[in-house]
Amino acid sequence: MPAIPLTRDELEFVQELKDIGVLRKIRNFDDTYKGGFVFCVCGDCDRFPELYRYQKNKCKEAGYPIRSHLIALNGGPLLIANNSPLNTDGESKIIKKHIAGAMQIKSIETIVAMFHWQCGAALNAGMSIEETFACYYNGIQELQSAHPDARIITKCHLHKPEEFSSYIINMDRYQEVYRKTAAA
Ligand SMILES: [Zn+2]
Repeated sequence: MPAIPLTRDELEFVQELKDIGVLRKIRNFDDTYKGGFVFCVCGDCDRFPELYRYQKNKCKEAGYPIRSHLIALNGGPLLIANNSPLNTDGESKIIKKHIAGAMQIKSIETIVAMFHWQCGAALNAGMSIEETFACYYNGIQELQSAHPDARIITKCHLHKPEEFSSYIINMDRYQEVYRKTAAA
């Protein structure tokens, strides 16, 4: 199935995130990826292949072995937050357990947490793109507290047919702008 294009409102929100420095295009992979990574992503049969291919090619370009330990439940990192609308039957606990297990079993210290939009799991739960970013942010905070020494690479992939749109998410910047406003 082809990706559903982003709506005008969603595109405006994405543009705002780019303008204020929350989103930036991914460049080359640094050596954080060298020892492998736990890849927490949505298993979407139509979208996952392009996400994985991208990770794989970037590792290859950088000359690193491809050690991608896959955790790919519906919604991916959107399941992590305890208060996620997708956490209806203990998914938050289960995904955290599997991430921790993968890190321990495979001696991996890097987590790549990548959500995509539009994500069918998020849409089914009635989430907007703004709510999805907020839910993702909460999940990353919880993950970082559980693994203070882990390097968590925060990414999203936006399905815009005219361009390949994977971004690094600057969580500090997101917090500065959106969480302060939310708390005010
Ligand atoms: Zn999805």
